Amino acid sequence: MPINNRIAAFQDDMTAWRRDIHAHPELGFEEERTSDIVAAKLAEFGITVHRGLGGTGVVGTLKGLGTGSGRAIGLRADMDALPMPEANDFDHASRHAGKMHACGHDGHTAMLLGAARYLAETRNFDGTVHFIFQPAEEGLGGAKRMIDDGLFSQFDCEQVYGLHNWPELPAGQIAVHPGPVMAAANQFEIHVTGHGAHAAMPHRGIDPVLVSAHIITAAQSLVSRGTNPADSAVVSITVVDAGTAANVIPDGARMLGTMRTFTEENHRRIQEQFARLVSSIAEGLGAKAELRFRPGYPATVNSEPEARVAAAAAAKVVGDGNVVWAPSPTMAAEDFGYMLKERPGAYIWLGHGGHRGPSCRLHNPHYDFNDAILTTGASYWASLVETILPRSA
Ligand SMILES: [Zn+2]
Ligand SMILES: [Zn+2]
Repeated sequence: MPINNRIAAFQDDMTAWRRDIHAHPELGFEEERTSDIVAAKLAEFGITVHRGLGGTGVVGTLKGLGTGSGRAIGLRADMDALPMPEANDFDHASRHAGKMHACGHDGHTAMLLGAARYLAETRNFDGTVHFIFQPAEEGLGGAKRMIDDGLFSQFDCEQVYGLHNWPELPAGQIAVHPGPVMAAANQFEIHVTGHGAHAAMPHRGIDPVLVSAHIITAAQSLVSRGTNPADSAVVSITVVDAGTAANVIPDGARMLGTMRTFTEENHRRIQEQFARLVSSIAEGLGAKAELRFRPGYPATVNSEPEARVAAAAAAKVVGDGNVVWAPSPTMAAEDFGYMLKERPGAYIWLGHGGHRGPSCRLHNPHYDFNDAILTTGASYWASLVETILPRSA
């Protein structure tokens, strides 16, 4: 295909849909207007619509003209915006103060709608496609909510696919990882309990600030000494909060941070080692400390056979030379990892080109989705369906 000709004809429509959604951003689980639009468009294309999974989630189901395979796959787009003000002043900038589509989920929604329209017109595949429009990717785990509400029991997909626009990658390129793409992330909180005293008489108290300093330093050994150098992991302590005055040793201290890994084994091990370090350092210095983890998204890990299929489908659209195979993954997290724990599949990066310079990065207030890639993304989806569910098979 390169860019699918029929889909190229949807460029203006997809751009208009995308800009309309951009102008009306909705936060996680509040995607009422967006999901109304998605459901209405799917129905208009002749696709069976199911609503309510994960609250505002929408699933469209379409059968191809082929009748033999009995197979089904899922294609997923996220619909939510971020709680941040937009700094752009173009006509379709956010009309909702403090909310912005700064991660391009408006574009993901529009390109999956474009693919759905094309596939509903042509139905040149053998099997079933479930178009999964999920709420609340940004931190709230909408993918998990949809799964808990029966996504894969009601819409049984043998494989599931996702994509994200990627400003670090030139427009017209697609990157595919045969394994981990994004990290597992969690947050932690440490409470150190010491004993307050006059700063001039430290021997009368137990200094939680000194305990915290030792914990911060020791935490750096979790990755540098505890983790296989061939693996990747991050432990970042990002908030340190203690004390009220220069001459008072406070009673306690609080720290916050995040930890990221690509494997569950590393995740578990770092948690255990960290808990040991925190309690033993505190004990050694006469204090008490408690470490609590708040679980976040699991790692987003592609299965290799499905990643190869995704790369082949991508190559039909952008050409072999524009498919980047196995680039470095990122330590950012993504809730598509929940879906990939349920079903094999692949999550690809769609080059976005940073067409307005370095400020045009994800989650930046100047971020501006590159509408030129809507047809690339929609063509990739179409190519993926026709590659995995060929009619001649
Ligand atoms: Zn984001
Ligand atoms: Zn995103």
